[in-house]
Amino acid sequence: MFCNQCEQCRPACQSDGPGICGKNEDVQSLQEIVLYGLKGLAAYASHARRLGQTDVAMSAFIEEALFATMTNVNFDPSSLLELALDVGKHNLTAMQLLDAGHTQRFGKPSPTTVTEGTQAGPGILMTGHDLVDLADLLEQCRGTDVKVYTHGEMLPAHMYKRLREHPNLAGHFGGAWQKQRSEFAQFSGPVVATTNCILVPDPTYADRVFTTRWTAVPGGTRLPTSDFSAVIEKAKATAPLRQSAPSTSTVGYHWTTLLDLAPTIVEAVKAGQISRFFVIGGCDGAEVGRNYFSEYAKLTPNNSFILTLGCGKFRIRDQDYGTLLGLPRLLDMGQCNDAFGAIQVAVKLAEAFNCGVNDLPLTLVVSWFEQKAVSVLLTLLSLGVKGITIGPRPPAFVTPNVFKILQSTFDLRLTGASAQADLAAAVGN
Ligand code: SF4
Ligand code: SF4
Repeated sequence: MFCNQCEQCRPACQSDGPGICGKNEDVQSLQEIVLYGLKGLAAYASHARRLGQTDVAMSAFIEEALFATMTNVNFDPSSLLELALDVGKHNLTAMQLLDAGHTQRFGKPSPTTVTEGTQAGPGILMTGHDLVDLADLLEQCRGTDVKVYTHGEMLPAHMYKRLREHPNLAGHFGGAWQKQRSEFAQFSGPVVATTNCILVPDPTYADRVFTTRWTAVPGGTRLPTSDFSAVIEKAKATAPLRQSAPSTSTVGYHWTTLLDLAPTIVEAVKAGQISRFFVIGGCDGAEVGRNYFSEYAKLTPNNSFILTLGCGKFRIRDQDYGTLLGLPRLLDMGQCNDAFGAIQVAVKLAEAFNCGVNDLPLTLVVSWFEQKAVSVLLTLLSLGVKGITIGPRPPAFVTPNVFKILQSTFDLRLTGASAQADLAAAVGN
């Protein structure tokens, strides 16, 4: 255990035994689950607030839950677990608000083909998750020859007609966050990072990095307001982008699009044409073990769909999975901010089949990296979803005892040594 949160902090607070106050490592672990889940919830709530979506009960809960983790307030594991699941419940509200904010501001998403690569001329790359920043930047570029490209988790911006039809939005460039250093060095124009996940830039390109609001990096320029004039000037002053050989991808299978297809999908399940739905996504990262998710996706049967979201999609989308019922087998549902959609699809499918989510032919294999993923996992657990596989490593803040509780209550699983064996176990073979 490592705790240093109060004045009584002594070596005992950073040992295997209980701290001076009596807090033990399992209580510490549960408090950290609450805290890290709250960080994810706060991120979603903050993104939603920028779109005018708020909820008083959710905001009050954040205060209450933070208070519960103060010194000498709560030493009771069972009530802390209850609180962690409440973080998940309120996170569902936050994600719902964010989804509503996006669709109200940018319109109902629809599937579309995205051009990936750069065109000759001045260009700006925008990364992170904040679509309001993207809309503001596009508007400020209107009437200029400066093109804007999405990067990483900004890819799903193209599913919104009001964004993709903007004359200055030229396409997408680049993959998940861990590739930023090579991709930003390669992109000759300015880069705007709007939220997590930004890496500390290499000095060779740091002077081209701009960040918005509370996102900030050494060597970069932080923009406290939505005025992007300095970025546009930088795009005109830096070396123009080179024309690259373009490729294309398909995005836009937002939950509303899938629900429009629900009658066809339900009939196909009943007729045995669809064997299973896999949700494979979440956060990508640099560890070697993340190839597990590419292997898993490759092994899914041809009569199954793979729903993906988050930058974990970049781990699995290089493969051609073919089509099923005239749709791509790999359906890109959006950002990690669109995780609400995967939950909606599961809940609506369960309603259509008059069963529980755990009775559906549905397997969730989630890669995690940061704290939005923690809050999404808590949301799934709060809804009673069982048998989720997470990886590539267990969270370091979850003690073996607490993990055992999560395993016995929710059948929470860890990615194993073999994706093939795990897939067989998940589908009951
Ligand atoms: S809260 Fe408890 S464990 Fe943490 S520093 Fe204070 S006395 Fe030690
Ligand atoms: S999915 Fe997770 S790791 Fe990837 S950019 Fe979003 S928050 Fe970061």
